[in-house]
Amino acid sequence: MKPTAVPNHFQTAQCSECGTGVARLPTVVEFDGQEVHVFDPVFCASCLLSLCERYSVDCANCGGKIPPYSQVGVLKTGTGTSQFVHMTTACSTVGSAFHGYLGKGSLGDFYQVEAC
Ligand SMILES: [Zn+2]
Ligand SMILES: [Zn+2]
Repeated sequence: MKPTAVPNHFQTAQCSECGTGVARLPTVVEFDGQEVHVFDPVFCASCLLSLCERYSVDCANCGGKIPPYSQVGVLKTGTGTSQFVHMTTACSTVGSAFHGYLGKGSLGDFYQVEAC
């Protein structure tokens, strides 16, 4: 009788949301005209897309969506709140105070990696 279990070296990573096997990393989805690549944590394409829909923030400069798990520029406003901009030359102005990494749940998982 042939074993049906998948040998170890064929095992794939598992989506951390739904447990579906993910054969190839990074997971790439297209969201709001942008390609989103995520290595870690592991998501299948449909979970990543739904995370993008739930957790994206608006770019303060161009008004487009910034997907989670991507680099962002952060602007501190005079009122103590933060605004996010794309990390592109078009959107990230010289006045940006911080560069960071936007995670799931926006500011709750926001990592500041550099301060100018
Ligand atoms: Zn999934
Ligand atoms: Zn932008």
